[in-house]
Amino acid sequence: MKAFGAVARPTIRNERELLRYVALVTAFALAFALAVDVVNQLAFFVDWERCLRSWSVTTAVCLAIATPIAYSIGHTHLELFRAKELADALGRIDSLTGLSNRRALIEDAESSLAEVLALAIFDLDRFKSVNDAYGHLVGDMALRTVGRMMQEELGALGLVARIGGEEFALLTSRASLENMVERLLAFRDRLRATPILIDDITLRVTVSAGIALRENGDGFDRLYGLADRALYEAKAAGRNQFRFPPSLEPLVSRHATRFEPGSRIATLRSA
Ligand code: GH3
Ligand code: MG
Ligand code: MG
Repeated sequence: MKAFGAVARPTIRNERELLRYVALVTAFALAFALAVDVVNQLAFFVDWERCLRSWSVTTAVCLAIATPIAYSIGHTHLELFRAKELADALGRIDSLTGLSNRRALIEDAESSLAEVLALAIFDLDRFKSVNDAYGHLVGDMALRTVGRMMQEELGALGLVARIGGEEFALLTSRASLENMVERLLAFRDRLRATPILIDDITLRVTVSAGIALRENGDGFDRLYGLADRALYEAKAAGRNQFRFPPSLEPLVSRHATRFEPGSRIATLRSA
């Protein structure tokens, strides 16, 4: 029954599985054709020479027909599998920045078994004024540049995603909390101190963020709600602020600002 399922509804993921499928289908077809022919020859028996000739012809015809048909069907299944994989991968990517998207973030958060899972939501400050001043094309290039910088600075911590217009997120379970706090603060200060060059336009962008830690059993919605509330507080506190859960405050004060305004930091060219 299992073998029949493997022939009728195969999942073929690579060339090796394709070869196995072709061999299986051909073996099925050959066994069936020979069984019919054996019964036929023995039921109307003439002599053994005629039997052997008939079985040889049946075997040759069956191999010549079944193998290419099985290959063609198997190859179509393999192509379908690859197309689905590609569609799944593209469905997790944000087309503007090339980062992961909201769907990827939610899937990873919900499938994570990590004991400690942290979510940071970032929202660029007063970004509407960038669009109003320079147009959406420049705004888009700025988003791409910030996304690239975020990936470079925070990518080692976990999944960096663009989850909406000028909103980004980091999902991390890999780093120690201290390392996360240190890198997040460094990113905030570096972004503020780094001019973004787009053609002959020089932009300065700041970002606010809310950070939340998953408590045992929390689903994504609750984690997102906590981070969102922290982000709201960061905005209300004047922007260019990161709001951490109270349990992380001692770490936050230990990693005070490293990049004062006027620090010499390389400018970023638009992505
Ligand atoms: P705040 O500091 O309160 O976040 O101010 P803000 O202007 O950034 O926030 P608000 O939510 O009022 O507006 C977000 C703006 O981001 C609106 C829109 O002009 C811009 N935006 C959203 N998505 C895109 C996008 O895909 N491309 C560009 N260029 N701009 C976007
Ligand atoms: Mg926003
Ligand atoms: Mg904003």
